[in-house]
Order: sequence, then C-alpha cells, then structure tokens
Amino acid sequence: MKFEEWNNRFPNFSPPEVLSPIALKRYETHGIIGIDLNALKILQEFRNKIQVPLKVNHSGLNLRGYRTPKEHLSISQGASMSPHCRGLAFDITPEKMKIHTLASRAFDFNFFKGIGVYDTFIHVDVWDRFGTGRIVKWRS
Ligand SMILES: [Zn+2]
Repeated sequence: MKFEEWNNRFPNFSPPEVLSPIALKRYETHGIIGIDLNALKILQEFRNKIQVPLKVNHSGLNLRGYRTPKEHLSISQGASMSPHCRGLAFDITPEKMKIHTLASRAFDFNFFKGIGVYDTFIHVDVWDRFGTGRIVKWRS
C-alpha cells in the first residue's frame, strides 16, 4: 500500500505514528506494512467516533503501535506473544480527555478485545486471546 492510499484510509494515523523504527524502515524500503490493517481500521473508526486526537507514537516513544519481537524484547521481559508484535495493538494517549473517560469509551465502542488502563495511556488491541469474543480489561 502506497503512502497516499494509507493516508486516505487512515488519515489520523500515519506510518511513523504507528510503526516502530524497524517497521517503518521495512515499510519505506519494501512496502511491508507490518500492522494489521483491520486493527488500524478499527482504531481509525474509534478516532472518528470519539472525535478526540489520539497519539500513538510521540515524544520519542516510538514502540507504541506495531513493533518487531526484537524491539519488544528491548522494552519488556514479557512474552513475544505481545499483540503489539502482531500489529494488533496500540497504546493511545488522548488530547483533551481523561484516561478513564477514554477507557470507558473504548469499552463501549465494543470492537477492542483487550483494554489496559495505565497512568498516561490506554492499551487497546483486537486480539481475541481466549477465542470468546469477550473484552478483557485490566489496570496497571
Ligand atoms: Zn500496549
């Protein structure tokens, strides 16, 4: 997918905003997208619905959308099963909205399957980890 098409389909989430440094380079040189397009579509629809700017990568924090397993290991001891490594997850920070409000909007939206609430962001993903279709919610 060319940048122009990306920009048309996902106007609020450009490649540098949702891809890690390695993934961005792969996209720019080989056209490999990395991120799951359905996950990105759902994020864009959520953004359209709530009408609030959402930051994924920002302020030098550039592993908050898709990241490679290698990059994941650099910031986490956790399993390489992270939905971030499958292109299914985003850590989003709202402008002009409280974190707990964003979390409840994400829950009501009903298309995210995992919602984690942290101090400065919420994690959202579309990974149906237990195959139940239910939303899994947690707090940091
Ligand atoms: Zn996350």
